Amino acid sequence: MKIDLHTHTNHSDGKLSPDELLDRAIKRRIKLLSITDHDTVTAYKNLSGSKTAQLKVIPGIEFSTTWQGIGIHIVGLNLNLDDPGLQKGVDFQTGARHERAIKIAERLEKKLDIENPLAAVTELSNRKHIGRPHFAQHLVNIGVVSQIDIAFKKYLGPGKIGDIKETWASLEQVTEWITNADGAAVIAHPLKYKLTRTKLIRLIDTFKGAGGTAMEVVNGRQKRDDTERLAAHCESKGLLASCGSDFHDPEFNWTEVGDMTDLPERCQPVWTDWSITEID
Ligand code: AMP
Ligand code: MN
Ligand code: MN
Ligand code: MN
Repeated sequence: MKIDLHTHTNHSDGKLSPDELLDRAIKRRIKLLSITDHDTVTAYKNLSGSKTAQLKVIPGIEFSTTWQGIGIHIVGLNLNLDDPGLQKGVDFQTGARHERAIKIAERLEKKLDIENPLAAVTELSNRKHIGRPHFAQHLVNIGVVSQIDIAFKKYLGPGKIGDIKETWASLEQVTEWITNADGAAVIAHPLKYKLTRTKLIRLIDTFKGAGGTAMEVVNGRQKRDDTERLAAHCESKGLLASCGSDFHDPEFNWTEVGDMTDLPERCQPVWTDWSITEID
């Protein structure tokens, strides 16, 4: 069964509408899909029934959070979207994102002597959900940098002036929102944080202590050695394993819906306990 439990739409920083993403997933024969937009679940509001009849859609989210000064992403899967605590959590994060955008804009304005970047990113984001990719796009548009990637390297990525993390809820808090909404909390792309082995183990211990149950063993295309290393961590810590492409945009040639290797045999998949009737 082809599975993808980490994807984005234009309700956060992805390119496709939710229905366009479902079309793409159906064409690629995905049977189990989660839309995990950053800090929002609005993509689930108007999914077309003709499409959701062709694959199983698992309600999900990707929460931004901070742990020991590091920006960590926690995916929530198989959520009860009607849970009032989850809704409150999403509202909190929406406020945090807005507050962060104001701060990033202030810093870039001063540092780069540019005029009102907040107004520009508000437009770029269609007046909702401002993310760092919008700031990156704006810096490209006004010629400060030539490419999005360079904007992250110089101004928005880890440790740079636009990397503001303190507005987000804590790792423990978002894990609680997810588990209270009957969901499985999952450490997203553990390799992206570039943690030492000791620090990754500490992260896993804190996460498990907060009620987290799973980790992404496969995130998009990655090296076999990395997959095995993450599978070993899951096994030794008793975590379930998840997999997702982290698809954002058809023009990004490094990710595609459903494009990743299977989980290693020794992993216990996060979906094992979900009652899923396979759609043929
Ligand atoms: P935010 O949710 O606003 O903190 O933005 C984080 C998002 O920026 C990630 O989910 C990626 O989609 C995107 N991103 C992070 N680093 C890069 C990069 N180097 N180049 C392009 N996009 C990036
Ligand atoms: Mn993103
Ligand atoms: Mn992420
Ligand atoms: Mn993601």
